[in-house]
Amino acid sequence: MVRVRFAPSPTGLLHIGNARMAVFNWLFAKRHQGIFILRIEDTDVARSEKKYMTQLIEDLHWLGLTWQEGPDVGGQYGPYLQSERLHIYNDICQNFLKEELAYPCYCTPEQLEERRQLARLSGKPPRYDNRCRNLTDTQKKTFESSGTNFTIRFKVPDELIVFDDLIRGKCQFDMKLTGDFVIMRSDGTPSFHFAVAVDDTMMQITHVIRGEDHLSNTPCHILLFNALNQKPPQFAHLSLTMGADRTLLSKRHGASSISEYRKLGYLPEAILNYMMLLGWMPKDKNEKFKVNDIIDTFEISSMSKASSTFDQQKLDWLSGQYIREADIERLTSIAIPYLQSAGFISTDEAKIDKTKLKLIIDAVRGNISCLSQIVHESEIFFKDVVISEKHVEFLSSETSQSILSAFYMELKKQNNLSPDIFREILKTVQKETRVNGKGLYMPIRVALTGREHGPELYSVANILGINTCKTRIERFL
Ligand code: GLU
Repeated sequence: MVRVRFAPSPTGLLHIGNARMAVFNWLFAKRHQGIFILRIEDTDVARSEKKYMTQLIEDLHWLGLTWQEGPDVGGQYGPYLQSERLHIYNDICQNFLKEELAYPCYCTPEQLEERRQLARLSGKPPRYDNRCRNLTDTQKKTFESSGTNFTIRFKVPDELIVFDDLIRGKCQFDMKLTGDFVIMRSDGTPSFHFAVAVDDTMMQITHVIRGEDHLSNTPCHILLFNALNQKPPQFAHLSLTMGADRTLLSKRHGASSISEYRKLGYLPEAILNYMMLLGWMPKDKNEKFKVNDIIDTFEISSMSKASSTFDQQKLDWLSGQYIREADIERLTSIAIPYLQSAGFISTDEAKIDKTKLKLIIDAVRGNISCLSQIVHESEIFFKDVVISEKHVEFLSSETSQSILSAFYMELKKQNNLSPDIFREILKTVQKETRVNGKGLYMPIRVALTGREHGPELYSVANILGINTCKTRIERFL
């Protein structure tokens, strides 16, 4: 049975780069009918915050991800919060000490730093020189009785660690170059390496799918798996995602946290689809897909070794596609809070004209990539339009005037403006003025909306209604 985990540290908001790791773990579990586990790596007490954990669970759920084991749903290998597993790490560490796989190190942080500096100056790798590995019992006793703080270090054997990464193929690391690393900090909390290896062992993880930034940690984890008498899981190190400037994707590149995208009114399925395109592509090269369409053909080995580049325009394009085909009721309920905050509609839902609102949303959905943009796009329906000087000039030209007058004369003959009536009117105006295409539309569009772009003119006219259309045209005659 495949068992994979997403193991975030709750030290900030879940961003695209990190959420992508969750997505591919989840997808891999789905592909192999396995178990997807959420484990929270919160042993860094100073940086971890409960609010980030709550938020990331909410964000993952919003994206549509579900897990079978995790801090919120439990499971037989829990607890799934590392901060609640300290006794487990401690017990295992005691065993390591007994078996002489590990030893206490009394070097102070200042001493270690000084030695690192010296090593750097003499061009040597700044690794720990293993000096506490061979302390005599008397030396240990002296340190102990003087109350010196100590860490516990793992004895790194001089081995060549070789493993087959599912994406990157054969990887090898010469452990001669690695100093004995800390498994327990002096405050009794486990190091990252130790907690990961212990948990992956105890949670029976079969595949570790994580970012390439962890590749150099993997040999240390393999040594720990060996010490724990556990066959190491298989590894897949995913390439990372860069911003357009080729640096690792981060906040600097704009909205990058899932909750920000949510606040901006992106649809979760669009974000999910886009994240799957970072470093992967379905066989049919069709970039827009539903998860269910691709599960059966998803092969982790086909993921790219090269880093991917985050492309906001592409995300917007994809998101726009999803908005165009989304259920109008759903879009309306997501759009309402934005329109309420803009003061365009009543804060009392019962007072909102939903029929009209749906027409508006349907008219503008073709021009937006997230629902917060609805405020700008739909302003023409809720507020009187402001016409710029440039447009006043444009509307005063002879051609514009003849179009607007002919249009106005036709409007006066009607008492409603259905799309069909609007089309008929335009035909008449075209015949009378002999102007067609953009030349015909633009003066009417600018007079009605104050803008050169926007929804189809017939739906604008239909939504505004005949009286508003008349008033908006009259001003320029
Ligand atoms: N807590 C680690 C991180 O957020 C995860 C490490 C792992 O997946 O093994 O990068």
